[in-house]
Amino acid sequence: MNIYTPAVRRYLTRHGYDKADPRGALIDMDGTLYDSMPLHAAAWQQMMREVGVDVPLDEFFRYEGRTGASTIDVLFHNAFGHGATEEEKTSLYGRKAELFAAMPPVDIMPGSLRVMDFLKRVGMERVLVTGSGQNTLLNRLDADFPGVFAADRKITSRDVKHGKPLPEPYEKAMSIAGLKPWQCVVIENAPLGVESGYASGAFTIGVTTGPLKECELTEAGADIVMCSMNALADAFPLLYEALVTTEACL
Ligand code: MG
Repeated sequence: MNIYTPAVRRYLTRHGYDKADPRGALIDMDGTLYDSMPLHAAAWQQMMREVGVDVPLDEFFRYEGRTGASTIDVLFHNAFGHGATEEEKTSLYGRKAELFAAMPPVDIMPGSLRVMDFLKRVGMERVLVTGSGQNTLLNRLDADFPGVFAADRKITSRDVKHGKPLPEPYEKAMSIAGLKPWQCVVIENAPLGVESGYASGAFTIGVTTGPLKECELTEAGADIVMCSMNALADAFPLLYEALVTTEACL
């Protein structure tokens, strides 16, 4: 028993599992592997200004995880009272991607390489699960995280129909890795991503890397919340031990 045992036991109880069996990590990209969210938010804000709508910066952190098309739909509903056409979604997401690509290079999230090293060391499979379809970061991933994600272990917005907050992307990741929900941990920074991870039945780790508070990730269903990827790297040995050894209360 260690300090993470109660969180694992709560997880087993809420999903009706006897035991976890951690074999795979399903990992979000923006705001988790990369410190990219402030620049994404700025690009979204600029794109919306160009169509005459001023949206507060923090609001974009609450949409994080949605596909671009879905985000534009929500923004249009809020601003104009109706959704966007397919044409508008394509052209405006293209513009947002263009603005993002013109921004200064994004840094790797501090601590994320340490987390990936731990997963490799204990032999857990890694699957990328991102709502993004932007090549700016997707093309850098293999150079920045060498040997972490096999080519067929990446779920992007191109592989899903609806995306987060529905469980679809995480369920798809489990299916390509041949894993069951109790064999997976999800690592996520955004409330909608946490909601998706929780609904998929995986042990969902929320990491607060932006302006949102810990409670927003807990309310979205996170089984545990860490204050940074470095904090998760520090905690992972004990958390892993708890996931391996804890049994449900019968
Ligand atoms: Mg994210």
